[in-house]
Amino acid sequence: VPASKLIDGKSIADTIRSEIAAEVAAMKQQHGLTPGLAVVLVGARKDSETYVRSKKKACAEVGFDSYGADLPADATEEELLKVVEAYNADPRIHGILVQLPLPKHISEKRILDAISIEKDVDGFHPLNIGALAMRGRDPLFVPCTPKGCIELLERMKVPISGRRACVIGRSNIVGMPAALLLQRRDATVTMVHSKTPDAQRICAEADIVIAACGVAEMVTGDWIKPGAVVIDVGINAKDDPTAKKGYRLVGDVEFEGAAAKASLITPVPGGVGPMTIAMLLQNTFESAKRVAEGAKAS
Ligand code: NDP
Repeated sequence: VPASKLIDGKSIADTIRSEIAAEVAAMKQQHGLTPGLAVVLVGARKDSETYVRSKKKACAEVGFDSYGADLPADATEEELLKVVEAYNADPRIHGILVQLPLPKHISEKRILDAISIEKDVDGFHPLNIGALAMRGRDPLFVPCTPKGCIELLERMKVPISGRRACVIGRSNIVGMPAALLLQRRDATVTMVHSKTPDAQRICAEADIVIAACGVAEMVTGDWIKPGAVVIDVGINAKDDPTAKKGYRLVGDVEFEGAAAKASLITPVPGGVGPMTIAMLLQNTFESAKRVAEGAKAS
């Protein structure tokens, strides 16, 4: 696949992170304010621990303060709510992220609803999602992974307005907000999901494809209209005896086949993945900026 077809998410994310680092330095100087992100982990899932660690490291690298609570797997819903409420009230903290999934005995809905919408840097609060869905309204925060997909399109100067887009998947954290974001930018959007007959034919009409179905390499070249732009959100482990770990990561798109048809495509890894954390940093920075500017105005 020629480099000219690749959307280099890693390098775009690095650029965004250095932009944020420079803005943080300026904010500290002008306002004496340091953005602060609190990351809450319940239990000891290996994958969640890895995500939390990389989020904290990314915070440190751009000059944020990071806070965190690690609760045991048997922590109660009330205990977790207390932690969220303490962070809601703490002026040093501009973003609160509760790492999902939570243990089964805790209601995800109740916890996400408890996060102050001013600090909802994951963008999962129903009031933020509701505003995203409405014309004339602006959410305080947009969920990080779909926001990263749009940022890739915009930084690659891909026209969105008037284009046909197909989003494969309709989850609350990726597919649904991705479709809303494309629609806000005046694309004509079709969402396909597990009950859609003939998803391939629908997808093959799209100028922009965002694949987030969680099925390894489901979207083959036959799904892609010649010249389309393909954003692959999927992260799946695929057995590979030649790889050191015995597996390698693949997307929801079959890369070689789709790349042969597409004009631009994201690789996995190194496409959407690095953008998710960059957007979390951006959301946290914007939150701190609102506080800094609010303080100046009053
Ligand atoms: P979910 O499992 O929550 O949602 C998958 C969606 O895809 C559902 O809407 C489902 O339909 C749909 N779907 C499943 N099978 C098919 C099919 N055969 N044809 C059409 N649609 C189908 O996944 P997520 O949205 O959380 O994640 C999607 C992918 O993105 C995963 O690979 C995940 O690992 C990855 N991911 C990557 C992130 C990153 O930072 N890069 C962040 C988050 C996720 P239905 O609603 O009918 O069940």
